[in-house]
Amino acid sequence: MQLDLYINTLGKHLKSCFDFPVQKIGIDAGFTCPNRDGTLGRGGCTFCNNASFHDQSLRKAGIDSQLNAGREKLRANNYMAYFQAYTNTYAESEVLRQLYQEALQDPDMVGLCVGTRPDCLPDATLELLAEFKAMGYEVWLELGLQTSHNHTLDLINRGHHFDAYVDAVKRAKALGLQVCAHLILGLPGETAADCHTTLDRIVEVGVDGIKLHPLMVVRGSLMAKQYAAGELTVMDEDDYIALAAEMIQRTPINVVYHRIAAQARRPTLIAPEWCSSGRGTSSKIAKVLAVSGVQGSKLGGFTKI
Ligand code: SF4
Repeated sequence: MQLDLYINTLGKHLKSCFDFPVQKIGIDAGFTCPNRDGTLGRGGCTFCNNASFHDQSLRKAGIDSQLNAGREKLRANNYMAYFQAYTNTYAESEVLRQLYQEALQDPDMVGLCVGTRPDCLPDATLELLAEFKAMGYEVWLELGLQTSHNHTLDLINRGHHFDAYVDAVKRAKALGLQVCAHLILGLPGETAADCHTTLDRIVEVGVDGIKLHPLMVVRGSLMAKQYAAGELTVMDEDDYIALAAEMIQRTPINVVYHRIAAQARRPTLIAPEWCSSGRGTSSKIAKVLAVSGVQGSKLGGFTKI
């Protein structure tokens, strides 16, 4: 199922920017996380075990080796460097400058995507990213938000509230940066209406991209213990597909979907089982959109908030 017939995907967006295919190469630059080392909090977010989302052996390889491995695997002509693991702005801006420059030094690198927390973005870091944008690179700031509801943010030990996200987005957008919000559907205690409220809030603040994930329970996370103790449930695939499709239909067409489902490797993934094949879920969401309306076709259509 061709997603970009129904959704403004990142691939579609990049094609419109560059006229040639661009692939993202994930990089682990060896960062840590202030929500784990005690600076902002301890223990990390309850869903998090970063090891589940990327190859830990990459952490020891340099940026250059990781990019070469990505080129070998993806075999495209042009790439974006995706600083993905942990908190990729957790250093002084001059250290960040060196790392980002290193990733962009080859002419086939046309963009930079930086994943981070909203409360780890001093002005100097945003200004640094704006410098790369001014040089002509495609720059995306990917902010982990997960939900706009403060009680859920507390429950999952994010260590920040929605106001930190709003502050970061306002400062980033004042510098012309593109912001992608990372959201998790199916967080403990959250209803479909809560997820729609989060969508409405981020659209209102101003968002350029969205990354949707179902809640996944992975080994090594606090949620793994909660799940084993019967204190946590996960969404079934049909409910996720229906909710994701409805949110996409309520999303303005200019917002770029970087992802609409997720996958985790076995044996790291504990639940839900259907997340071991993320591509299938994306296609099923596209099928719903093909029948009942594409992205942006039901703006303002949710009334249960
Ligand atoms: S999800 Fe991000 S912010 Fe939360 S503990 Fe993991 S690396 Fe840190």
